[in-house]
Amino acid sequence: MPDQNHDYGDRSLHSAWIEQESNGLYTCGVYIENGRIIDGPDGNLKKMARYLMDNYPIILFTTPNQDLLFSNIPDEMRGRFEEDMKRFGYGSRNGKSYSTLRLLSGACVGRDTCRLTYTDSEKFEPFLLDELEVKWGGMAESIGITGCERQCFRPATKTIGWVGSAFNMYQLKLMGTEDGRHQGRHLKDPKTGEIYLRMVKRQDVGMITDVLFEFYTANRLPDESRPGGMGYFHSRIGMEAIISHLKENPRTAKLMKPMKVVVNTRL
Ligand code: SF4
Repeated sequence: MPDQNHDYGDRSLHSAWIEQESNGLYTCGVYIENGRIIDGPDGNLKKMARYLMDNYPIILFTTPNQDLLFSNIPDEMRGRFEEDMKRFGYGSRNGKSYSTLRLLSGACVGRDTCRLTYTDSEKFEPFLLDELEVKWGGMAESIGITGCERQCFRPATKTIGWVGSAFNMYQLKLMGTEDGRHQGRHLKDPKTGEIYLRMVKRQDVGMITDVLFEFYTANRLPDESRPGGMGYFHSRIGMEAIISHLKENPRTAKLMKPMKVVVNTRL
């Protein structure tokens, strides 16, 4: 019988260098924004992957987070391996190193790759992060975006989930935690059953996220200041308090109109 109480531990994105216990070789975990291995102004990642595969004795894996693992690298090759990655422009966007918030966030493919999508996800997330990381780049929290409720990137298991609800519209999910142990849900008032922020315009997503980060940093307890503490802050204060704050905040108040909808709120 499998152990029903087995603890799988915290979520790991397998970033950076990992020593392989079995043989003393190393694996390099390489962040690929939204899984797009492409050549562009922010690095020639496709050429880089090809070059590394041709010039090192490595085995390549992909991760559930859409990143790459280059494994079986001898210790003495690690310095040259890093230099080669930099040569192809790996590690930065718009001339700046990937922020912590960017490294922990992501999106599904969405438009135009997925025929089920309502709206952009992979094509929206990098620009949302550009907007947010000016102020919040050091935040060790995760934002997940998908183009529809099928939620292939699991936005409800991120601190802040934005799930496509129509063309250029997103619904907010909170209560998930960056460590993957808690699942997010709609902003549903537990007393009235009313749901908020189910149809948010794309241009308002960054502003609402900013308000949520401000609310968290101003009111968190010392223990909730740790990386990944924001979801636990949300759980402590509860959905009612979050909804109240968003109704009172002058920037979000006008958007806090309850929706009278009959939906499967487990989605
Ligand atoms: S979440 Fe929806 S839009 Fe995104 S890949 Fe899955 S089915 Fe497609």
